[in-house]
Amino acid sequence: STPASYIGRFAPTPSGYLHFGSLIAALASYLDARAAGGRWLLRMEDLDPPREMPGAQTGILQALEAYGFEWDGHMVRQSERLDIYNAQIERLVQEGHAYACTCSRKQLEPFNGLYPGFCRDAGRATHDAAIRLRVPDRQYGFSDRVQGEFHQHLGREVGDFVIRRRDGLIAYQLAVVLDDGWQGITDIVRGADLLDSTPRQLYLQQLLDLAQPRYLHVPLITQPDGHKLGKRYRSPPLLPAEATPLLLRALRALGQPTTGELNDALPAEVMSWAIPRWDARRIPQCRTLPEAQLV
Ligand code: GLU
Ligand code: ZN
Repeated sequence: STPASYIGRFAPTPSGYLHFGSLIAALASYLDARAAGGRWLLRMEDLDPPREMPGAQTGILQALEAYGFEWDGHMVRQSERLDIYNAQIERLVQEGHAYACTCSRKQLEPFNGLYPGFCRDAGRATHDAAIRLRVPDRQYGFSDRVQGEFHQHLGREVGDFVIRRRDGLIAYQLAVVLDDGWQGITDIVRGADLLDSTPRQLYLQQLLDLAQPRYLHVPLITQPDGHKLGKRYRSPPLLPAEATPLLLRALRALGQPTTGELNDALPAEVMSWAIPRWDARRIPQCRTLPEAQLV
């Protein structure tokens, strides 16, 4: 079979239920894929068991179904791919792109998240150590379909970053790049909170010889105090009974048309109506959108 020209995905983390902010990202990703006649995959990013909320995986799947999302193929769980991530990490260490780091949190505290390079050339053993990726001293940038040009100097703004924690947990940055590559993802549509993870992911793609996907970062819905919507700020989980009104609200937040005739429609009918009308160019070109401004 010929490879699809568009493969999108939704990649929730089961640290909590889906909320209105996640709905915006899921909906934009889904409509963009379906409007392009593409495939849409679902991947559970369950790399951090201690921070996983019991019942969240089931709750996420139930919410997606109740809201009319239909994914292609089987859902992939990152927890089932740990051997693959670890093999890649070993290879990166052997090739000198990554190294073991035994710095304590306390030692790194004065450096504001920018790793000072203490272990960079120390040749430490990988056992009982974090693994850091050596970043090149240059800028990585891309052109986002909504947010425009975005650049970051990896050496000066990010620094060598952890790809496996000392306790063995695999970092999101590494797993997401490996999986997007492995699943042949051509288009990443997600929340703008991940804009400044993208240059790190571009560097990893280059290092691992993976194709660079297109990117579209949708605005993040914020609370009156400026905080991102999320379980920490008690945004309510998506209830099945609110599917149609919240889908319509999400469409409007994404700058897409709606019609009063959909007020009593089923979620699947809202989706069928919205797919042929999807126009990504109408998405507001901002990183955050205050919830209070939504209609
Ligand atoms: N798992 C990430 C999250 O829920 C999203 C990953 C991505 O879309 O790249 O924030
Ligand atoms: Zn160190």
